[in-house]
Amino acid sequence: MDCIFCRIIDGEIPSTKYYEDDLVIAIKDVNPQTPFHALIMPKQHIECALEIDESNSSLIAHVFEVAAKIAKENGLDGGFRIINNCGEDAGQTVKHIHFHLLGGIKMSEKII
Ligand code: 5GP
Ligand code: ZN
Repeated sequence: MDCIFCRIIDGEIPSTKYYEDDLVIAIKDVNPQTPFHALIMPKQHIECALEIDESNSSLIAHVFEVAAKIAKENGLDGGFRIINNCGEDAGQTVKHIHFHLLGGIKMSEKII
């Protein structure tokens, strides 16, 4: 399996880390779309949100705990957006589940 995020998690590819523990890692997106743009993901290779079930949903809950911590630590007091793209129609490009944490600017474009 050639997964770029697994390689980042394994330390084979360098990244700027915002947070790491045994279960979850948060890194700076290499192509940030807002002044603050983190990618938060479980270390376990889960392809996308379709694979979330009772065996791994606690990891996703932990992702959101980490998101709150990172938002507070990085001064996203004005608000932020969390986005997950799952599958082709959503434009998912890296097939290792991840959540974009976007902030640091007033976002005008909304899909929903
Ligand atoms: P997706 O389109 O799958 O929701 O998001 C994938 C994200 O991963 C993109 O925002 C892209 O910029 C980011 N990305 C792709 N390759 C790398 C990489 O090697 N390092 C980091 N830090 N981000 C990456
Ligand atoms: Zn992976």
